[in-house]
This record gives sequence, structure tokens and C-alpha cells, in this order.
Amino acid sequence: MKIATRMSSIAPSLTLAISAQAKAMKAKGIDVISFSAGEPDFDTPIHIKEAAKLALDTGKTKYGPSAGEPKLREAIALKLRTHNNLNYQAENVIVTNGGKYSLFNLMLALIETGDEVIIPVPYWLSYPEMVKIAGGTPVCVTTQASNGYKITAKELEKAITNNTKLLILNSPSNPTGSVYHPDELQALAKVIIEKDILVVADEIYEYILYDNAQHLSIGSLSPEIFQRSIVSNGFAKSYSMTGWRIGYLAGNVELIKAMTKIQGHSTSNVCTFAQYGAMAALESSQDCVKEMLEAFKERRKIMLEGITSISNISCAKPEGAFYLFVDISKTGLKSIEFCEKLLQDQQVAAIPGKAFGADDCVRFSYATDNQSIIRGMERLESFINSL
Ligand code: GLU
Repeated sequence: MKIATRMSSIAPSLTLAISAQAKAMKAKGIDVISFSAGEPDFDTPIHIKEAAKLALDTGKTKYGPSAGEPKLREAIALKLRTHNNLNYQAENVIVTNGGKYSLFNLMLALIETGDEVIIPVPYWLSYPEMVKIAGGTPVCVTTQASNGYKITAKELEKAITNNTKLLILNSPSNPTGSVYHPDELQALAKVIIEKDILVVADEIYEYILYDNAQHLSIGSLSPEIFQRSIVSNGFAKSYSMTGWRIGYLAGNVELIKAMTKIQGHSTSNVCTFAQYGAMAALESSQDCVKEMLEAFKERRKIMLEGITSISNISCAKPEGAFYLFVDISKTGLKSIEFCEKLLQDQQVAAIPGKAFGADDCVRFSYATDNQSIIRGMERLESFINSL
């Protein structure tokens, strides 16, 4: 069987593969400690599950509109207006099969052969692959650890050519946990407007913030940047709904119409009764989000103390998300070998930085319980000492 040529340059998703491998090892009774998954370990809050159950019991089991349940689109638009200061209406919103599919669909709707998409490195590993599948060219721009791995206005300006169509901005960031500050966003917005390109803000970790970090949507800065902005988000991380597969994207109406056509020929609507759970998530108390954040705060502290106390590895203190991006360059190993050995010798799973475009780093997710983090850090220390 001859597989399409376009697939020859597409890498598999390592985050999903390693997380699945760790889960399979656990199922076999192996005492694996997994820092691989970018997946909160909490159950979905009960009121969200009850709303989906009620929808299931009352017959919300049929096809729905491809762009999403009208009430959910309205609730999302209201959230974007009130929480993010983005002036969207329901017609500006599409509900998608996870945040991931919102971005994939966006690339298909927007990117043509020859279009360049600027992606700051380290990046979430699916961005370049999505661009390539759509026929575009990812332009990966290395950022500096000393600047929190955030792209600067200068670096952006230098990377822009006549073919540049889009910048992908992810804040809080996966894998680094960095958060863009208002002045940094202002400077980037200035370049985006001057060079007349588009920006998609992936804001899936928007509520997972520490210390005094604030989340700001770049599109809220001015009418000029709003016109050039698209925002992608979802329910997976904030409400611990990873398996529900409900994301969304907001942008101008023509874009949403184009994406709805693609969705009409690919996924159709997101699971109807699941969308009722998402409505409950938005319309009910947000205490569950705060409770999960409290747990993440404690976990971040424990893992940071652990990593800092181990010689030859180091990481910055991230302001958001639930990852530590650890520099392993002093160990003499590159990231894939490091992760393979760590899993083999100590049964600790983590994701090689190579998958995110940074081979001297490894991503540790602290979306797991305190005890596992403490035990995992002890094993990591033994591993580093054995090298
Ligand atoms: N975004 C999460 C991660 O980076 C989930 C896995 C994935 O979809 O890549 O681990």
C-alpha cells in the first residue's frame, strides 16, 4: 500500500505515545511514575458530569449543527467577551473536537501551499505537523531560555517574509510554562499589525497561573490586533475534561464558516450530550477550577524543590500550565536517550524535549499526586547520580 507522500514528513505524537506506554506499563502491574501526560489527574467535576448525563437521558443523542450547539456557542462568546475582553458573538465561535482539532481545522481553512507559519521554539509538538499536513511551511524560531523561551518582537520581525501568514502564540505555554506579559504582547502586536500578518492565540492553559501572573488575550489589546487575531481554547485542562474532546475557536465570521464546512465533511458536530456538560462548566460556579489550581500550586512547589536539589539539571520557575521544562545538557545525554534510560532504569516517564524542538531539555508534567511527585523525584535523583 502506498501511503500519501505528505505523510512521510509527519512525526507521530510523542506526548500521546509515551503517555499511553506509561499507562500500559501500569496496567501490567509495573510501578511506573508518569510525568508524561499533559492531562490533569482529577475526575471531571460532578456537576459537569450530571449535566451531560441529564442531556443523555433527555435525548440529546442526535446529530447537531456542525459548528456546535447554539447555546454553547453563545455561552463561549459571552465568556470571551466578559473574561477575555474579546468582542465575539456566537457566530464567531466554532465548537470543535478538542482544542487540537480547532487548530488543525484552522490550518486547513487558512493555510495554502507556500504559506509560512511562525512557531516559537520550544513549541507544542503538534503545531508544525498540523501546518505541514495543511501544505504550509512551519518556520520554527528559536527563543532564549534567558527570556523565558518567549519570542521577542525583534525575533518575530526577523522571521517574517512575504510568505508569512500566521504566528502561533501559546500562553501559558506547553512545554515551558511561560506566560507572556502585557508589554511583551504589546510589542508583538505592533509587529503583527505593521507586517499585516495573523496571530492565533492558543489559550488552553489560561486559568492555570501562579504567583501574580495574569493572562491577557493578545486580541484584546486594540481593534487593529483584534482584526488579525484568532483564539483557540477548550475545556480539557481547566475543567479536567481531556477525554470529552471539546475545544473551540473564535475568529471572524468568514473563517468560522470555512471551518464549519470542513467540520461538516469531517467530524460533524462534537458529541451532542458532551456539549451540555461544557455548557454547565461555563455557566456554573468556577470554584472547581480554583480548587484544581490550588492542587497544582502545591505540586509545582514540590517538583520545583525536587528538581532544584538535584545536581546537573535545572529549570526556570514557570508562571503557568503544569510542566517543568528541565535543562539536561550537563548530564551529557540528549533528550530521547535520557527519557528512554529513565523509564528503563527507574520506571519514570517524561517527554523528550526533542519533540518540542529542544533536545537539551525534558518536559516533566506535574499533573499527578504529591506522593508520586516525591517518589518520582527520588528516582530521578538516583538516575542522575548513576550517570
Ligand atoms: N497537550 C497535552 C500534552 O502536551 C496532551 C497530549 C497531546 O494532545 O499532545 O501532553
